[in-house]
Order: sequence, then structure tokens, then C-alpha cells
Amino acid sequence: MLQIRRPGLTTKSDRHFSVAIVGGGASGTILAAQLARRGIDSILIDGSGRMGRGVAYSTTEAAHLLNVRAEGMSAWAGEPDHFTRRFEQEGGDRRGFAQRRLFGRYLGEILDEAVQNGCAQVGHATATGATYGEADWRIDLDDGSTIDADALVLAVGNQEPEALSAFADAGLRFIRNPWGAEARAAVEDLTHTGRAALLVGTGLTMVDLVLSLDAAGYQGRILALSRRGLIPRSHADFEPSPVETSELPSGLRAMFRWLRRRSAEAGWRAAIDSLRPYSHALWQSLDDQEQRRFLRHARPWWDVHRHRIAPEVAATVARMIGEGQLEVVAGQIVGARSAPNGLEVDFHRRGASATQSATFGYAFNCTGPLHSIARTRDPLLRSLLDSGEVRPDQLGIGLEVEGTSRAGEHLWALGPLTKGRYWEIIAVPDIREQAAAVAADIERELGA
Ligand SMILES: Cc1cc2nc3c(=O)[nH]c(=O)nc-3n(C[C@H](O)[C@H](O)[C@H](O)COP(=O)(O)OP(=O)(O)OC[C@H]3O[C@@H](n4cnc5c(N)ncnc54)[C@H](O)[C@@H]3O)c2cc1C
Repeated sequence: MLQIRRPGLTTKSDRHFSVAIVGGGASGTILAAQLARRGIDSILIDGSGRMGRGVAYSTTEAAHLLNVRAEGMSAWAGEPDHFTRRFEQEGGDRRGFAQRRLFGRYLGEILDEAVQNGCAQVGHATATGATYGEADWRIDLDDGSTIDADALVLAVGNQEPEALSAFADAGLRFIRNPWGAEARAAVEDLTHTGRAALLVGTGLTMVDLVLSLDAAGYQGRILALSRRGLIPRSHADFEPSPVETSELPSGLRAMFRWLRRRSAEAGWRAAIDSLRPYSHALWQSLDDQEQRRFLRHARPWWDVHRHRIAPEVAATVARMIGEGQLEVVAGQIVGARSAPNGLEVDFHRRGASATQSATFGYAFNCTGPLHSIARTRDPLLRSLLDSGEVRPDQLGIGLEVEGTSRAGEHLWALGPLTKGRYWEIIAVPDIREQAAAVAADIERELGA
């Protein structure tokens, strides 16, 4: 059995840790804090400049709000008021929706505490590979150095969106990554020129872009397009309608019949949310074919009802639609090419007989994270997949994990990487439970 190194005890070397966590977003940060509370030393590795915040909470924009009420956002499973207290200090209401950047600061404070108590260190680098030998992981970093750890946790988050083949010839006016610096520069340019913007995808990423454009004072027209043209619904107060395990539906068809019936009785928000405590068990009760069917047919509907937006955000979107500035369309992109004054795009509205063309200043890929883990461009994941240390899950959307999110020998995965097993594992209320379970499992495995 391995010995967990406590702070203050002699370590094998200053490059050797009990746990190496790759990915300093919400998942990795909460895990580092969980380990620190258990007195287990770890190093949190992130080379993106978003250490302690990750993609979702590194936004600097006031318009970007959480899509979970403040009272649901504690980083600690057993301390529901932990974030609320922080939010109330800033004048917020526990039932309200905080700015995401405030939540980012909160995560940063949690990480600082773990660093200050001597249990956590941070490493600002990108992990490019990892190999397991003689009960240790050796992790290669892009600065040429290596670190060793008894356990490795992959918390690398969602993978960058798929390249869209229709935009292969679109050049720099197609913004492939809506979270990067190019997207911010494009928003500025659009605000300046007032040219039309195309958002491909109509989910939460589209909403973020719309908010960014609105906050920047953009006056141009926005076309948001996806196959079904569904946009996220708004949060609203409702009377909860909890269900007993014995009342739960079994199988995909039965689940949607059950949801329709219960929505008619209790309202759709109450119906969807009544399944939350059972979401992992329900997902795991579906066989592979049913899970695939869910992804193919039901997912867009599920996403817009389950992952709802703050009422303030919904009001902005509704205002922009009402004023004719934002148009949401069900349809398909046919092709796109660079034109002297922008990007010329051909698209087909669902039900229309002809293809339409329009010119946009920029088009943004808002289709959401990469769906196929085999096509990841993350160097660490690539190396682990290529060496066979990790395997894609049954659907190919994340990594195969067992029990308490174990992906291999002394190897765990957290957050969106584990959605094949758990499906609902991308929001903080789910991630904090997973991080607590993984921390306990690591302690058990490495030996106290
Ligand atoms: C825009 C947005 C808004 C959201 N809003 C909410 C919300 O309001 N409430 C809620 O509960 N959930 C929300 N979510 C969902 C959820 O909180 C996030 O998906 C969650 O933060 C995932 O965190 P993560 O740490 O797993 O991944 P990420 O935040 O993606 O962090 C992973 C980090 O790992 C780094 N990394 C990747 N590969 C390597 C490598 N090889 N070496 C070093 N570093 C690496 C990345 O650069 C990144 O910084 C939102 C998600 C998004 C995208």
C-alpha cells in the first residue's frame, strides 16, 4: 500500500505528489480542495491561464450569469450555503443567479485556501502525455519537465467543438472556438462594423454569444441556426413534485411518456426536475442502443428543458427576438465561402423549398463540445488513448470509467469526460458529489 504524503512530511522529491490533477477548471479545483481537506497533497496542472476557473467561470463579462440558482452552487456537497454566503456578501439573493465571474472568484478562493494549507500546488503548464509504471504516474509537461504522482486525475473538461465541414473554406471569419480570444475580437469588430452575425447552434453557447454582443452595444442582426431551432427555456418558480423510486419509468419510451403525463399534471419544470435525484441510475438503466437513441433524437429537447437559463437572460433573448435583432431558425448550413465584404453562407430553412444565401461579418461555432472523444486534440488524452491506458466509453463521447469514476490503474476521470457513464455530470451540483466520491476513493486506494 502506498503512503499518502502529508504536508510537512518528507516527500520522495519536490516533483513527486500523491495526486496529479490535470485541468484547473471547476472539477479539478473542487477535487484539489477535497483532497486538501483530507490532508492529501496534490498538484493541479493547467496551461490555459484559467487556473482555478476553467472555461465556464473565466468569463469577465457581467452579462454571463450562472444557469443554476446560487443556492445550488456550493463547491461542497455537505455545505449547501457555502457559495450563497459569498454571493450574499455581494448583495445577491440565494434564489438568484450570480455572475459567472463571481463564481470564478469563489473557486479561486477555494483553491487559494488549499494552497495556503500546504496541501495543493499549482503547475501552469499543459500536460502532453502520461505513462504508468511501478505504481507511479509520470506526467510530461509542455515546458519539457515531468512530474511524478501516485495517482492521476483527468479533469480536462469538454473538448473543443468539432470543426464544421461546411466552413472548411471560410477562413478567419469562421470562429471555431467561441471561448477563445478570436471570438472576443470578432464581437468587438462586429460591434464596430454592425455587420450581421451568424451563430451556428442555438443552445447555451449561442445564448452566451448573444449576451456578449448585446452587452458590447452591437446593433446588427443575428441569425442563430440549428437543425431544430430549439433554444434554452427559462427558469421560473414552481411547486416541486418529488417522486418515489417505485414511480420511476423504465426504458426510454416509457420515460418520455411518463414525462409528458407528469408535465400535464405538475408542469414540465417540476416533471423534469423530479428526475434529477435519479438521473445517473436512469441513464445507466438504458441499454447502449437506447442511450444512442436518446443522443440522436431526444437530447436537444432534454437540454433546453433541463439546462435552463436565468430569467434575466431569457428576457434579454426574448427582447432581441421581439425587436427583430435576433432570429432563431431551424435549418441547415449548406456551404460557406470567404467574400470581399465578409462570409457568404448558404443555408436551408426547414420546410423551405430553396436554399438561401446571406453575407455575415462572422460566423461562430456554437454547436457545443466535441461529441467524439476519439477526435480529441488534447495532447494528454490523445497520448492516453493511443497507448491504451484509457478507452472511449460505450458511446464514444467520453472515457470508460467504472465504480467511482476510475478510468484505469490509479487513474480517475472527472466531469464532462465521464458523461458516457453518468450523463448528467457537467453542472457543479453533480461535479461536487463526484469530486467528493473520487477524493474518498483516492484516499482509500492510496492508503491513509
Ligand atoms: C459557458 C458555460 C457555462 C456554464 N454555466 C454553468 C452554471 O451556471 N452552473 C453549472 O452548474 N454549470 C455550468 N456549466 C457547466 C459546468 O460547470 C462546466 O462544464 C464545468 O465547469 C466543467 O468543469 P471542468 O473543470 O470539468 O472543465 P473546464 O472548465 O473545461 O476546465 C478544464 C481545464 O482543463 C484544462 N486542460 C485541458 N487539457 C489540459 C492539459 N492537457 N493540460 C493542462 N490543462 C488542460 C483546460 O484548459 C481547462 O482550463 C457551464 C459550462 C459552460 C461551458
